Amino acid sequence: MNKNSSNTMALAPNTSSKRETVCIFGTGDFGRALGHKMIQSGYHVVYGSRSTQISNLIPKDAEVLSHAEAAQKATIIIIAIQRQHYNILTPLAEILHGKVLVDISNNLKLNQYPESNAEYLAQLLPGTKVVKAFNTVSAWALQSGTLDASRQVFVCGDDVEAKQMVMNIVRALGLTPLDKGSLLAAQEIENYPLQLFPMWKFPMVLSLGLTVFFFFYCLALDVIYAYIYENNNFSFFIVYTIPNHVCPVMALILLALVYLPGIFAAIIQLYRGTKYRRFPDWLDKWMLCRKQLGLIALAFASLHAVFTLGSPTRTFIRWRTGTGIVSQALNNRTEPLNITNAWLSDSYLALGILGFFLFVLLGITSLPSVSNNVNWREFRFVQSKLGYLTLIFCTAHTLVYGGKWFLNPAAYKWYLPDIYMLSLVVPCAVLVVKFVLIFPCIDKHLTKIRQGWERNPKYSE
Ligand code: NAP
Repeated sequence: MNKNSSNTMALAPNTSSKRETVCIFGTGDFGRALGHKMIQSGYHVVYGSRSTQISNLIPKDAEVLSHAEAAQKATIIIIAIQRQHYNILTPLAEILHGKVLVDISNNLKLNQYPESNAEYLAQLLPGTKVVKAFNTVSAWALQSGTLDASRQVFVCGDDVEAKQMVMNIVRALGLTPLDKGSLLAAQEIENYPLQLFPMWKFPMVLSLGLTVFFFFYCLALDVIYAYIYENNNFSFFIVYTIPNHVCPVMALILLALVYLPGIFAAIIQLYRGTKYRRFPDWLDKWMLCRKQLGLIALAFASLHAVFTLGSPTRTFIRWRTGTGIVSQALNNRTEPLNITNAWLSDSYLALGILGFFLFVLLGITSLPSVSNNVNWREFRFVQSKLGYLTLIFCTAHTLVYGGKWFLNPAAYKWYLPDIYMLSLVVPCAVLVVKFVLIFPCIDKHLTKIRQGWERNPKYSE
């Protein structure tokens, strides 16, 4: 017999026989959805409700009794009512004594009350064993079966046995319990559903700020300058040309910002001669949102690719090509092929295509379904080595785009560089410092530090 089989059996839901009775207080949306799922999983469900009349919304096979009668029928009672109605439970204190109460409630605001709802319930009914669970699962997901994004159920509680009982129910419903420790963790768990993309805040705000800045920068140089000094009305650039300038610039800068904190971290570790001192908070936070920065960068790169593909259909581009041909015909001469320009434009396109391909590959490997299937070394190889290669290709793509223009004074309207030049500052800095860091003498030293060596052990105290 497989040596793991006993473990597996302990964890697997027992589907062959009827399970115990579970009581649910409240026949609202969540109570009904959870009851329905529990009956499907073989539990006998009894509802405790203010009204014992059976409505056709109540799952078939469930009983509806008064709170007191229902509580007597089960050891585990799921409290599917809002916190502000918990006072109806105090007269039931005697019946509920020693029972496991599962608090599933959420609040409307972060840290709405001084204590968590679960701790409040435990204070209200001191003789009970309160366990927090299920609050991050929605009634709709339970009922529709679309639980893919929220299969994890955070569980916490002070009584280990009670917590185990609840975790067994979670498993029996086909969900994954995640033990978060004692009831002290309840406040944090109650805040989870109220957080709005916490890891995305900084990357989104930064991207928005930079996008607005570069948009107005381009507007000044490409539209306003042309209007004032060349008497050209290029206002239509606002909808296509400028976004197609801003998107690649944002993609390149954000990609470089994914690798910049790693560079800072290496420099800090080399300077301190140890890895056992915490990085500054800002660097920690920056490191934690690298994936989000990378995904936003990929979104900008994808937009740039789509904008570029659509470019030949634009009236302005067709007009420019047409007038070029007509002017050659009128002058009765054909422009000779400029081999340097042909090299530059082909290299520019090839580098862009390769960079974008690697960018997409990086994005795909960051998806949980893919990253779960590669080991840590493979993941690091893709995200670090291929990531740097992507940065090299994209930086080279932009450098070749500039071509001979870097030294041309006409490229500096109002003495300001074009935005593609600005976009090169951070990536070039990252690549140059990285190049220095991979010098064997420095790399060896850094690897030693990362393996636990300390220049001055007093830092670890
Ligand atoms: P709901 O639809 O408003 O139902 C709450 C139930 O509480 C009512 O059906 C009622 O049951 C009972 N109730 C209402 N007023 C009462 C009062 N004055 N005194 C005593 N009982 C009263 O709410 P819900 O959406 O099911 O949510 C229930 C709990 O689950 C909440 O704490 C919520 O935060 C949590 N939750 C909900 C979801 C969700 O997706 N809905 C997700 C996670 C957690 P009876 O008529 O049977 O007495």
